[in-house]
Amino acid sequence: MNVVKKFQKKKEDFSCSNCGFLVKGDGFTNHCSQCFFSKHVDIFPGDRLENCGGKMEVTDIVSSKRGKYIIEHKCLKCGEISKDKFRDGLDNFENFLELVKKINKKKGLN
Ligand SMILES: [Zn+2]
Ligand SMILES: [Zn+2]
Repeated sequence: MNVVKKFQKKKEDFSCSNCGFLVKGDGFTNHCSQCFFSKHVDIFPGDRLENCGGKMEVTDIVSSKRGKYIIEHKCLKCGEISKDKFRDGLDNFENFLELVKKINKKKGLN
């Protein structure tokens, strides 16, 4: 028996509130691996302590210095902004590139 479980990550799968895709949860992220929408359920990543439950839309994607992509979400219900990492091997990269294009267009960058 493991008695040192102070912090328990919840690794539940969930279906995306935007496109309905069944997302494999990894305990930290809430974003959909297909459309990248997220759900406002965390105060800190993985804690599931937030009661809002609003749909979170991707507002921006930035690349970090280490070549990782950071996805910025904004809650459509309460306006909270959170950041999430693109997950290599789990997230749909083609869809991701499409999303980047869309966002750049919105920003007028092309
Ligand atoms: Zn989705
Ligand atoms: Zn919210």
